[in-house]
Amino acid sequence: MKFKYLFIFAYFVLFFPGTKVTLSQDIKKEICITVDDLPYITKVFKEIKSGQYITDKLLSVFGKYKVIALGSVNPGKLFVNDELDSNKINILYQWLDSGMILANHTFAHKNYNKIFFSEFKYDILEGEQYLKDILAKKNQKLKYFRHPHLFRGETKEKADSLQYFLDSLGYTVAPVTIDNSDYIFSWAYEKALYKKNDSLAKKIGNDYVKYMNDVMDYYESQSISLLGYNVKHILLTHANMLNADYMEELLQMYTEKGYSFISIDNALEDNCYHNLKDEFYKKSGISWIHRWAYTMGKRGDFFKGEPEVPEYINELVK
Ligand SMILES: [Zn+2]
Repeated sequence: MKFKYLFIFAYFVLFFPGTKVTLSQDIKKEICITVDDLPYITKVFKEIKSGQYITDKLLSVFGKYKVIALGSVNPGKLFVNDELDSNKINILYQWLDSGMILANHTFAHKNYNKIFFSEFKYDILEGEQYLKDILAKKNQKLKYFRHPHLFRGETKEKADSLQYFLDSLGYTVAPVTIDNSDYIFSWAYEKALYKKNDSLAKKIGNDYVKYMNDVMDYYESQSISLLGYNVKHILLTHANMLNADYMEELLQMYTEKGYSFISIDNALEDNCYHNLKDEFYKKSGISWIHRWAYTMGKRGDFFKGEPEVPEYINELVK
């Protein structure tokens, strides 16, 4: 730094102590929004009317913020009394007509930690069978796979078997960098709505946005400390009541932080998704940043500081 610039810098720090002296304006900020468990997922409001409400609100906000989201589908949820339900299929058509991309999230969202690969692979194939037909009606092809619970296999053998199988079917895995507990907040939120406790529902919604703000800051700093730059982020959310009501506030929060919204295709142009190894063979479903960190030998302190769900929310869902 030349002397003159050093002087100007010192002047700002001394006379504007509130000025944040960071290089944050130089950090690239891009984020891909993904929404899991389509057509929709709720614990309380299971009727189609709620599913339609969730869909309409999410898609209208995505349109407003020019978001091309990835929606991960569990075709098993398209059935009512063992028959495909046209209202639920229409929800997926609505996603496609709005320019969104759909991924296979397996037929029944089984827990890969609890079953053999031989069983899990049929859940992938069954999901694919229904989803391919739906996409074909809109002249689209199935490309992406999202792991249920972000479980990739708790042993090297299981992880490799699954990855080879996905490769053989031509899938591109849709990773996640920003993992979070939106589903816990949503469960608490639905309980508050069900009890018609509007002030509690509003508090949960506001605390959710604050939590997601902290989660974004956390993974931004994790990315920079691990990789030396801010990755093209991929956010995990779910097609639930809470995100229907608060997605706009989330997108506004990301916008105010300087983030622009990118598609999954664009996010995966970041080389880290192709060059970095994941040798995290454990039962947890975690961020890819943490998978890479673990593989690179990071332990303990590196992972500290992840924002936590407020205690009253955990109590509400007990
Ligand atoms: Zn899921």
